[in-house]
Amino acid sequence: MKTIRHIQEVPVTGSYHVIVAGGGLSGAAAALAAGRRGKKVLLVEKQCWLGGLATSGLVNFWVPLCNGRGKMIIKGMAEEFLRLSVKYGFDTFPESWKEGEPENPTQERCVSHFSSGLFALQLLELLKQSGVTILYDALITGVQMENGHCSGVFIDGKSGRQFYEAGVVVDATGDADVLKMAGVPTVDGENYFTYYGEGISLEGCRRALETGNLWHAYQHPSGGPSNLYGHQHPKDKPTYKGVSLEVVNEYLQENQLLMLEKEKNKPRMERNVHMLPGMPQFRTSRRIDGDETLDGADEYRHFETSIGAICDFERRDILYEVPYGTLVKNGFDNLITCGRSASASGWGWDVLRVIPPAVLTGQAAGIAAAMSLDSGAPLPELPVKPLQDALSETGVIIHFEDAWVPKDKSGENAALSDHI
Ligand SMILES: Cc1cc2nc3c(=O)[nH]c(=O)nc-3n(C[C@H](O)[C@H](O)[C@H](O)COP(=O)(O)OP(=O)(O)OC[C@H]3O[C@@H](n4cnc5c(N)ncnc54)[C@H](O)[C@@H]3O)c2cc1C
Repeated sequence: MKTIRHIQEVPVTGSYHVIVAGGGLSGAAAALAAGRRGKKVLLVEKQCWLGGLATSGLVNFWVPLCNGRGKMIIKGMAEEFLRLSVKYGFDTFPESWKEGEPENPTQERCVSHFSSGLFALQLLELLKQSGVTILYDALITGVQMENGHCSGVFIDGKSGRQFYEAGVVVDATGDADVLKMAGVPTVDGENYFTYYGEGISLEGCRRALETGNLWHAYQHPSGGPSNLYGHQHPKDKPTYKGVSLEVVNEYLQENQLLMLEKEKNKPRMERNVHMLPGMPQFRTSRRIDGDETLDGADEYRHFETSIGAICDFERRDILYEVPYGTLVKNGFDNLITCGRSASASGWGWDVLRVIPPAVLTGQAAGIAAAMSLDSGAPLPELPVKPLQDALSETGVIIHFEDAWVPKDKSGENAALSDHI
């Protein structure tokens, strides 16, 4: 390949204890958690509002935080964000979960849709109140590394290229972009042909008027119609890794033209596509190959290094614990990830990447970053007990109770896959 050599003097514009790359829900949680521990935090987001896939990606649905028996499993900041997301806008909670954990056991799962825009605004307010500095419309394009230590990041935006010094960098890009640039080993995922937007129709508005719930006015016009399992994935399409500019563009533009073709056939005055996803809807693009990897077969496995219990979104009863090593890599002392790019394989990646666990790992990464700065311990060697204690204090369940495991260890199917 033809190359050019480019050397540039770059201004050092700021210095932060913690820089969080990406303002999706995992990044927002990491920034908030570090900010609440008194750290000077910069959150860098390439788009112009917070929430990532959960807001601009139009994935405004919380998969279950409970075990399908009325017990809340994913707590702490995940539960805080869930309640915040529906504070001023509509929700679609089942009746039994409207006011919190139900008094009596229920098979209904704790799920809800929310208003993407309102939630994004509330996240901004919350983070600013906690002293987090936010840079929108700014892309992290490089890292300065020496012997596994990252002294800061290069940020490109309207003011050109700038350098920001960092004590710790949290990669919450969803694609492990920053840790890949730092040399951390990574693994690519595969994605089906999925693309949906948000619209309203007269018929939806009529339904919303009948029920009094605005959510019912929404429609989801689609390009690629594949679900999580690849149902309806077109035979003539490949699967997509989503980690190169070329593939991302091919995927987006084909999907957009396909959506247009589908919409052309619909009644003009009865519907409207009011929003397209602001980012590619890739579920598993790239993750780190961390010190520990959560696998689908780790159901009901206790990890001494657990940073929190999580539940399977498809099957009630199935529980996992997330080991701390999914977020870090030995040899990289001040780098950590969270959310979609935490280290997990097979079904384990699907269980770990969705919204409630993404907030959990973000919260853990933010606290770990602050603890590493306070103690001087490299992130991969951070003692886990104080981290577990700090997470517990916010309500996180670190280890699930064996009494919650069904005798035959089976999980009952309670499929939600049309939504996710
Ligand atoms: C089609 C689809 C359906 C889904 N359905 C559901 C569902 O129903 N329920 C559910 O719970 N989960 C669902 N998920 C999963 C869930 O939405 C995500 O896994 C979760 O929101 C991930 O959060 P995150 O913070 O890890 O990453 P993201 O939300 O991807 O956030 C990453 C952020 O980083 C920013 N960024 C990236 N690179 C840079 C950079 N270099 N510099 C600055 N900023 C950068 C991005 O703009 C983005 O805002 C779905 C996902 C997809 C794709």
